[in-house]
Amino acid sequence: MSDTLFDMPTETVAESKPDERKRKDWLNLAAMAKLTNPDPTWHWCSWESVNGGQSVKGSATTEKKSGGMKWLPKSEHDTVIVSDADLQAQRDKYEAETGNCSECEGTKEQWAGWNHETGHKWKPCTKCGATGKAVRA
Ligand SMILES: [Zn+2]
Repeated sequence: MSDTLFDMPTETVAESKPDERKRKDWLNLAAMAKLTNPDPTWHWCSWESVNGGQSVKGSATTEKKSGGMKWLPKSEHDTVIVSDADLQAQRDKYEAETGNCSECEGTKEQWAGWNHETGHKWKPCTKCGATGKAVRA
């Protein structure tokens, strides 16, 4: 004999969204500023440390159906050298334009690492003293 039971929903809620806040990619911004033909879709695909900064390779990209990025063929990649000063220049520009701290981008929180179980960790920003405001040196 069996009672009529309600079918319990068996699907579980997919928690696929990691706690990943969109942060600026200073390396990409600095590299784009050096391109002879800047393209808003340009993105780096690899970089390596060289004398004087980072050697950054990349190209214009298109979006794949799956949501990922697709680069141009390697033969069409640009290579630019991005120095620490170039990175700092992008941060300075951002701070001058927005008045926000470039470390936490005005969110008052600083990235503090990533763990495969707990995801991204954040802590109060030490650069701006958790005010979110640009600190003038
Ligand atoms: Zn900050």
